[in-house]
Amino acid sequence: MPSDIPLIELRQVSKEFSSGQPGIAGRALQRLGLVRPAALTRAVDSVDLSIRRGEVVGLVGESGCGKSTLGRIAAGLNSATRGQVRLDGQVLDELPSAQRQAARLKVQMIFQDPYSSLNPRLRIDRIVGEGARLQGLTDRAGFDDYVSTQLQRAGLDPALRLRYPHQFSGGQRQRIGIARALAVQPDVLVCDESVAALDVSIQAQILNLFMDLREQLGLTYLFISHDLGVVEHLCDRVVVMYLGRVVEQASVDDLFARPNHPYTQALLAQIPRFELRRSQYAPIEGEMPSPLAPPSGCHFHPRCPYASARCREQAPPLQKVAPGHFSACHLNHPV
Ligand code: SF4
Repeated sequence: MPSDIPLIELRQVSKEFSSGQPGIAGRALQRLGLVRPAALTRAVDSVDLSIRRGEVVGLVGESGCGKSTLGRIAAGLNSATRGQVRLDGQVLDELPSAQRQAARLKVQMIFQDPYSSLNPRLRIDRIVGEGARLQGLTDRAGFDDYVSTQLQRAGLDPALRLRYPHQFSGGQRQRIGIARALAVQPDVLVCDESVAALDVSIQAQILNLFMDLREQLGLTYLFISHDLGVVEHLCDRVVVMYLGRVVEQASVDDLFARPNHPYTQALLAQIPRFELRRSQYAPIEGEMPSPLAPPSGCHFHPRCPYASARCREQAPPLQKVAPGHFSACHLNHPV
């Protein structure tokens, strides 16, 4: 059972990207006010997210909503522009460098395209075991056994460990990525669209593997996906993002039975459920606005059928609408 203490916690995390890095001359011209500073994209905007040990949290939203950036910040692959990342109550940026590095290994990322994350010139044993050896989790004498254990856990035959990435199928490569992550003994896996590129039957196998590993190793997951059907099947809790902000979060049962935010309602209407596929497939109206120039107030107002003048002026805070259920919509708190 998940404990109440967050294993990983993001507090007021924001991430901004500049649209271009000016050179020395560009910076001098900016200081003189002769050229405008580069535009900033706020990919993530003051997000709070906490995950208890053993929990599986789904992070959903359309492409460009900031969910992958948030996942990369949680996994330590991107730094936050503002805010804190805590692991087991410790603020990572306040730890001494060696401790911070060790803590970072506790959160591993599984990518959508495993092939691009596997060095094609390295054999599988090196890909899977080298990080663990450098961290002192195995030595030369125990290396082969250690790698074999990780490959078996990921559902691969250890006899394949002397092969190269190009000799494997897409599903097997994803298993190699999982074995590599397991080799450094993580507590949390951040899965970013980790099954999206695979055939449906292989997807099911990898999802089952994730759940078996949860049971066997007590792993915690942040599961980033555009596939709400998969999230409903797999997760304990769901966080919905829109244009860099969290707009709703709730337990999976509550969110799918009683979606509160108009954006979540629109997303759920998109699920091509088998029995509804013909009659109720309803794409969300309108395009997602550019994060370079997000709409004022509630970012969703240009696409929301209930938008009012207040929505165009004030950003609604995320507030409790039921036990464990939070939503950011003015309709919940009329003035
Ligand atoms: Fe729609 Fe207004 Fe609620 Fe935003 S705050 S979702 S625009 S009703």
